[in-house]
Amino acid sequence: MEEVAAGEEVQIVLSINPFYGESGGQIGDTGYLRKGDTLNPVLQTTKESQTNVLLVEAKTTLRVGDAVTAVVDIERRKHITRHHSATHLLHKALRRIIGDHIHQAGSWVGPDRLRFDFSHFSALEAQQLIQVEKLVNQWILEDVAVNKEELSLEEARAKGATALFGEKYGDRVRVIEMGESMELCGGTHVNRTGEIGLFRIVSEAGIGSGLRRIEAVTGWKSYEYAKEKESILEDVSMLVKSKEEELPGKITSMLQQIRDLERKLEALQAQNTVGKMESLLLKKVKISGVDAVIAQVSAEKADDLRQMADILRDKMGSGIVVLAAEMEGKASVLVAATKDLANTFHAGQLIREAAKLVGGGGGGRPDLAQAGGKNPEKIAQALEQIPSLIEAQLQIR
Ligand SMILES: [Zn+2]
Repeated sequence: MEEVAAGEEVQIVLSINPFYGESGGQIGDTGYLRKGDTLNPVLQTTKESQTNVLLVEAKTTLRVGDAVTAVVDIERRKHITRHHSATHLLHKALRRIIGDHIHQAGSWVGPDRLRFDFSHFSALEAQQLIQVEKLVNQWILEDVAVNKEELSLEEARAKGATALFGEKYGDRVRVIEMGESMELCGGTHVNRTGEIGLFRIVSEAGIGSGLRRIEAVTGWKSYEYAKEKESILEDVSMLVKSKEEELPGKITSMLQQIRDLERKLEALQAQNTVGKMESLLLKKVKISGVDAVIAQVSAEKADDLRQMADILRDKMGSGIVVLAAEMEGKASVLVAATKDLANTFHAGQLIREAAKLVGGGGGGRPDLAQAGGKNPEKIAQALEQIPSLIEAQLQIR
């Protein structure tokens, strides 16, 4: 292709190229190509068989042979360079703190954060992560000069530089020395470790068997990370109306308060249920000489019905309880009887007939039975038929 019109995206190779092409886990540069007064954005740079290829959004007609001024987004490049340089120190610190079995298994470095993958059999302990983070920061604060040297592969190996497994190297390699760390690397690096700024580990997690991943931030990104955390802390202090340093105590006492209130609420609910059951007792009927409480109640779960029946049985001494409630759009029915009626009444038998009336089925023991039905609107009608059903059962026995 000789020429592209404005508005098109095109791949461009420059005769002299300042853009870093994505490779070795370091993201490619962005920036722009200036032609006359027009800025043509460079969206990304990739590396294809040693050639840097720019993806450019043409804002004017671009031709092969045009003279352009190439401008790299230098602030973005600096963020990337700090993050990339920090991976060297992180690699070394992991080997020092955790052990020499640690090997870099991959990395990805962008302007916002770095990702470092390594071989290790288990999660790092919080204390180990703190030690690693601290050691990296110590090396940064020592502000050692970064030595960049081009050597033959044999010379580099003889010097003891760490080569990455599975990485292909040419005859000439770049050796990057940062204090104790010496690696073969084609990425971009700071001149002194101090330029990296504060190094903070953001996360550590497993990414497959025997592989771990650390994510970290440096420079301005760790400043932003700290500001974000600070603002969360400020929000929480405002919400619970407490000074930041008093937050742990304040939240502990709030949680205790919630537990106390929950306990009080439970006690009140239980009291309330007892009160309701007492008023139900006033409406008890006598069927063939046996006391019976038959009622529709409000309940949230089947267990509530059982608790109510227990209270009623205790207070009645001898008798039959039939309770029904609508729960989540369905009918729930419970029949209970005191033990002394075992020879004259069977709760399971009554529930079979009662359940049919609300469109369901069920069974149970002589003293306790529960069933559900799909027609809650028929509860009232069904309860009206219960006395005659009880009467029929009591007469047969
Ligand atoms: Zn490097």
